[in-house]
Amino acid sequence: MRQSFLPFHVPEIGEEDIAAVAAALRSGWLTAGPRVKEFEQRFAHYTGAAHAVAVNSGTAALHLALEAAGIGRGDDVLVPTLTFAATAEVVVQLGARPVLVDCAPDTLNIEPDALQRALTPRCKAVIPVHFAGHPCDMDALMEIAARRKLLVIEDAAHALPARWRGRMVGTIGDATCFSFYATKTITTGEGGMITTANAQWAERMRIMSLHGISKDAWKRYTAQGSWRYEIIAPGYKYNMTDPAAALGISQLTRCDEFLQARLRCRRRYDEGFAGEPAIERPVERGDITHAWHLYVIRIDPRRLRIDRDRMIELLKQRNIGAAVHFIPLHLHPYYRDTYGYKPSDFPNATAAFERIISLPIYPRLTDADIEDVVTAVTDLIRDNRR
Ligand SMILES: *Cc1c(COP(=O)(O)O)cnc(C)c1O
Repeated sequence: MRQSFLPFHVPEIGEEDIAAVAAALRSGWLTAGPRVKEFEQRFAHYTGAAHAVAVNSGTAALHLALEAAGIGRGDDVLVPTLTFAATAEVVVQLGARPVLVDCAPDTLNIEPDALQRALTPRCKAVIPVHFAGHPCDMDALMEIAARRKLLVIEDAAHALPARWRGRMVGTIGDATCFSFYATKTITTGEGGMITTANAQWAERMRIMSLHGISKDAWKRYTAQGSWRYEIIAPGYKYNMTDPAAALGISQLTRCDEFLQARLRCRRRYDEGFAGEPAIERPVERGDITHAWHLYVIRIDPRRLRIDRDRMIELLKQRNIGAAVHFIPLHLHPYYRDTYGYKPSDFPNATAAFERIISLPIYPRLTDADIEDVVTAVTDLIRDNRR
């Protein structure tokens, strides 16, 4: 058995990251400043987006994008049920109603047919989540959106870098929201970014991220700035800080390298689990680039004497950290009780939830670490076969 605990995630922080943050601290810019601007420019360049707006979380990114899109009271917004709290809570916070949608059985991404069935006359937007880093079927989604005049605000918290049929995620929908939370593919500790081709939206999000203060509020303490400002709307306090942006710039330069490292992990897992009928490996549909933020296996409860929860507990006893992404929103008290959802309303997500296990996948994992995970999982399956 493995001697030391293998955490589910360890962020990839190198000496160059530490030096970049130290330089930001020495510069005296502790809040939003020139490094935030630079990070935005580099991120826009990297994704190919016209505009990028940096904020202090992926949740803030979603909130601002929906606000700029004009989502509010009386609107419905389509949200996959298999996602994190953030995707739907921002809809509720704006006074709109999240309409949950089931996932596809293979990719676990929002299912276009289920989406069509869930449409209401009040639907104004859809928030596709590129689950685990596998892009959603954007051709189908953009076609439905065009036909039904829906805005497409992508939750790309898992999807940097990812491509759908050659197009970079960040350049497809009306706005795309990224997260740089500690577990994501690149990190700023806490942070987020919105990309969009819409200059007016970008301007609105910039203003709303700093109290609704008119243009270039961040410059007010520089030589070019002025103390005078105007509040044009009751905004939020969502700006990124320069030390965080310094970390982001440093991480972004290694984004492709990190992806190669996660691809290595993915290959090793695929090889290790091949031929084990009780394990379903993650799928990859053709003509995409998968960001491999998560490696999610599904265990087959009909073939085993233990359930998923027990499996995770036993992995922990063997010093392997694992996680579940996600408990579908319709199973949580708030969404269940407020909107009256039943598990049978979302058969694919409900079935997936009982089977999914997220295994560690990050650049720091050695081949020996992955071997330990594969051995632990396959041993447990062998010992508990029905
Ligand atoms: C991480 C995450 C977010 C946003 O996270 P923050 O912690 O606010 O940066 C949003 N959606 C999904 C699916 C996520 O996994």
